[in-house]
Amino acid sequence: MTNSLVLVINSGSSSLKYQLVDTDTGAAVASGLVERIGESDGYITHKCGDEVIEHRGPIPDHAAGLALAFKMFDDSGHSLTGAGVRAVGHRVVHGGEVFYKPTVIDDAVVEEISRLSTLAPLHNPPNVVGIECARALLPHVPHVAVFDTAFFHGLPAAARLYAIDVEVARAHGIRRYGFHGTSHEYVSGVVAEFLGRDNSDLNQIVLHLGNGASASAIQGGKPIDTSMGLTPLEGLVMGTRSGDVDPGILMHLNRSAGMKVDDIDTLLNRRSGLMGMSGVNDFRELGQLIEDGSTAAKLAYDVYIHRLRRYIGAYLIELGGAEVITFTAGVGENSASVRADALAGLQKFGIAVDPGRNTAKSRTARVISPEGSPVTVLVVPTNEELAIARAAVAITT
Ligand code: AMP
Repeated sequence: MTNSLVLVINSGSSSLKYQLVDTDTGAAVASGLVERIGESDGYITHKCGDEVIEHRGPIPDHAAGLALAFKMFDDSGHSLTGAGVRAVGHRVVHGGEVFYKPTVIDDAVVEEISRLSTLAPLHNPPNVVGIECARALLPHVPHVAVFDTAFFHGLPAAARLYAIDVEVARAHGIRRYGFHGTSHEYVSGVVAEFLGRDNSDLNQIVLHLGNGASASAIQGGKPIDTSMGLTPLEGLVMGTRSGDVDPGILMHLNRSAGMKVDDIDTLLNRRSGLMGMSGVNDFRELGQLIEDGSTAAKLAYDVYIHRLRRYIGAYLIELGGAEVITFTAGVGENSASVRADALAGLQKFGIAVDPGRNTAKSRTARVISPEGSPVTVLVVPTNEELAIARAAVAITT
């Protein structure tokens, strides 16, 4: 029996992901996804080694979903209660100004995360539900909250602040918090290790391109800017989120189209980005539509790349030049065309992508810039679960 096992839980509004991580080896011992919570046709996929077991049927709420997932551990012969789980790590989206380090959860912490729901109404409430269910099922194990905003807590003031009335900003906690911090921190650490360099001596740009997408500029291991802001809506074009828009659009939609705040929220968070422009949010489907000749899909792709290049350009200037540019997450790790187009025509800045290296298939960290290129371009798989598990171990040791 090992005591390096950490259960990592990422609880969303209608789904819940979990992974049992061995923090000694970094391996996922088991993992699963509970989907369509609250629906009559819920399902759970649980993987343990090569074995995959599924459950189909109504999953009324998160508590039922997590209890079923725990039962699937039992059914696969690896009971969680007997596994010697040393901690449970919870991904929490918004830590506000209060939480900027992994934090052992007690009732007061749950209350505070709940209070921060005003800043993250789509994310913090389901995070809290996941925490409460897991605490009820594993009451004798420490539970640790790891915040998506934490890495960016110390952003320099010029990058952190919006140019609005300071009193209003202060009264309502309005600042740029940044998100995907666990991934940006993990990936930038892996980059330093991979290159055999000291992180404190490295200027890097990390491009986390998944269904949600964000960019960061990291100087000596510390972020100096990031593309997401008060909420995960700001910045790059995403699967269903618009990223940057003129805030004047919101007032215009309210005054001219009679849209209420919730309509606008839905429009920008769920019906924009690739989905809004092309009808699909998955990059593989977008690629297929482009191949089939869809001009809408091609336009969505062009806007996506244009925005990405704008951020890369900004961060190159902010850093005074980057030594490394890294692609990560679903799109960043898998789409050779996004990587090639994002960095096309930048040879003058010492940036190039080697076509052969870029299209080679690999699941591990790799260089895709040509040999001897002044700027190293990398693809590094992210692993937020491992980072959360390690943070949970570090704080409970
Ligand atoms: P993530 O949020 O990091 O899980 O990334 C999810 C997104 O990655 C999906 O919506 C897809 O658009 C994209 N993705 C996954 N696999 C591929 C692939 N082979 N090629 C292009 N995009 C992919």
